[in-house]
Amino acid sequence: MTAPVSRRQIVTAPPCVFDHPEFDAHEQVVFGHDEATGLSTIIAVHSTALGPALGGCRMWAYPNPGEALTDALRLSRGMTYKNALAGLDLGGGKAVILADPRRDKTQALLAAFGDQVDRLAGSYITAEDVGISDADMEVVATRTAHVRGIRATGLGDPSPYTALGVFRGIQAALAHRFGSDDPAGRTVTVQGLGHVGMDVARRLHEAGARLTVADIHQPAVERAVAAFGAKSVAADRAHAAEADVFVPCALGAGLNDETIPELGAPIVAGAANNQLAEERHDAALRKRGVLYAPDYAINAGGVISVALGEPGVGDAAIRAKVEAIGDTLARIFRIADESDQPTQAVADRLAMERLAAP
Ligand code: NAD
Repeated sequence: MTAPVSRRQIVTAPPCVFDHPEFDAHEQVVFGHDEATGLSTIIAVHSTALGPALGGCRMWAYPNPGEALTDALRLSRGMTYKNALAGLDLGGGKAVILADPRRDKTQALLAAFGDQVDRLAGSYITAEDVGISDADMEVVATRTAHVRGIRATGLGDPSPYTALGVFRGIQAALAHRFGSDDPAGRTVTVQGLGHVGMDVARRLHEAGARLTVADIHQPAVERAVAAFGAKSVAADRAHAAEADVFVPCALGAGLNDETIPELGAPIVAGAANNQLAEERHDAALRKRGVLYAPDYAINAGGVISVALGEPGVGDAAIRAKVEAIGDTLARIFRIADESDQPTQAVADRLAMERLAAP
């Protein structure tokens, strides 16, 4: 008969955040809980090298806490790079609330989250993200001053600024690939006609581009067809449509082993976050001769408006900074060619250089 195995013997050392594959020298990872409201939150401060760590708060019904931690670690690091490359004097952080926004969101829970943010004394600044609205952030702001993008600090919806940056990014890509930044007469496929995609489509139409559009929400497609004289294509074939530019403005991971060989445009420049399914797809795009505008570089207009918006000050300086996204991308494209590096790798390097010498 074998001796019974004690619980102590079979339980190996529990996994620790320092061993997590997404841990990348994060300065702080705070696990917050509030019994009374049921709040469970993870706030990851990746870097404050350039300033307080700004990044949105995401509320999501994660299947398990491990996935919430993965998201917080990965997204906070992404914010460090995005804020650095956008020329903001801000570090990178992100908060996740482990809850279903449709079922679990209460004012008390949001207020308790505000208390957790406040305990970090300004090293983390929160803002809205998936599952959190500007109205929710107003509740958070009743407990902490470390909130951006609310009425007291901001310019409201960041999407028009994101769209402006994407439009400038498309122009930079056109200039690099075709020698002219003029969208007139160019064919462009816009995938995802939400807050950002519809505004990018409008700008392109007004600049004389010929549009093909796609969305899983048919009324949005019909609106774009009517307003911009656009052609439409099935949402899952948008990447393959023949065009000069493919503009992904829907969800992430759209550039992967299946879609990259089928791409119908020599330029990919759109707002969607996390467009590369895996890091290696950066090199796959270059190998295929596709000019890729790194997502966090081209879609930084929103965070710039959230970071710098001040009520009553006007937005001229912010618009200028958003328009400079075009210059940043032109630089990335040039360095990528000179060094034969994929564009996202170049963007990462430029962000790291700024972090190393703030
Ligand atoms: P949104 O929710 O307003 O719009 C997304 C649109 O994509 C919707 O119309 C939806 O029906 C459509 N869609 C979803 N799945 C699709 C699919 N498989 N094929 C085609 N269409 C599909 O979102 P948004 O605010 O416009 O943001 C768009 C993207 O840009 C997201 O990836 C977001 O993370 C990113 N982004 C947005 C901002 C901002 O300021 N809103 C800033 C930075 C990055």
